[in-house]
Amino acid sequence: AIKVSDLYKSVTTQEGELTILNGINLDVKSGESVAILGPSGSGKSTLLGLLAALDSPTRGEIVLDGVTLNGLDEEGKAALRKQKVSFIFQSFMLVDTLNALENVMLPAELSGVNDAKQKAQQMLERVGLSHRLNHFPNQLSGGEQQRVAIARAFICEPKVLFADEPTGNLDGANSDRVADMLFELNRESDTTLVLVTHDLQLANRCQRRLNMQAGQLSEVVSASDNSGEQVMARSSAAEAS
Ligand code: ATP
Ligand code: MG
Repeated sequence: AIKVSDLYKSVTTQEGELTILNGINLDVKSGESVAILGPSGSGKSTLLGLLAALDSPTRGEIVLDGVTLNGLDEEGKAALRKQKVSFIFQSFMLVDTLNALENVMLPAELSGVNDAKQKAQQMLERVGLSHRLNHFPNQLSGGEQQRVAIARAFICEPKVLFADEPTGNLDGANSDRVADMLFELNRESDTTLVLVTHDLQLANRCQRRLNMQAGQLSEVVSASDNSGEQVMARSSAAEAS
C-alpha cells in the first residue's frame, strides 16, 4: 500500500523557485492498479520518482508498504527499493555495458537469486526477445530496450511496480503483450501497479484513473470531469471496435 499526505516538490531554477508538485494526497491499496494521466510537464514522473524513493520531497509524507520514506537515509532508501520496488523508467535506464540478458539478470543477482540467468532468459522470452539476449542497448530498437527494461522490472516480483509510460515506445501487439504481463503480475503476485501513461487502453484496464494537472492530482470519476469524459468516451469507442 502507498499513502501520500500533503506532498510538495519544488526546485530552484534560474527563474526562481518552481513548484512541480503542489499538495498531493493519494491512497493506493495493496494489489491495486492505478493509472496516472495528465499533460506533459504536469509532474507525473516527478511524483513517481518520489514514491519510489528515488528523490526526496520538499514537504509531505510518503508511507510505502508500512515504511515512512521521510525517515530513511540514502542507504535505507536503497534497501527499500531493492526489497520492494521495481521501476520502469520513461528513458529505460539500461546499463550500456551489459547485454540484454545481463541487464535483466542484474537485480536478481544483486538480491542473491540462484538461478538468475535462467529466470532472466524466461523473462526475456516472455517479452518476445529470446533472439536478442546478447545484444547491447545501443544495438536494440527503442521498443526492444523498453521490453528489456520491463523484463528487468519483473524479475524480482516486486511488491510495488512503478512504470513511467511502459507502452510508450511499443507497437500495438507489443503494447498488448506488455499490458497483459503487467496485469498478470498484478493478479498473481498481488503487485501494486502505479502506471503513468498516455495510453488510454492501458489506463482503462487499471482499477482507478487519476489526472495530474499542474502538480495536483484528482480522481477521474464523473462525466462532468473533462478528462474523465474523454477517457470514458474513448474507452467505449475502443470497446466497440
Ligand atoms: P511528461 O509527460 O512529458 O513525461 P511529466 O508529467 O512526467 O511530463 P515531470 O518530468 O514530472 O513531468 O516534470 C514536471 C515539470 O517540472 C516540468 O516542467 C519539468 O521541466 C520540471 N522539472 C522536473 N525536474 C526538474 C528539475 N530537476 N529542475 C527543474 N525543473 C524540473
Ligand atoms: Mg514524465
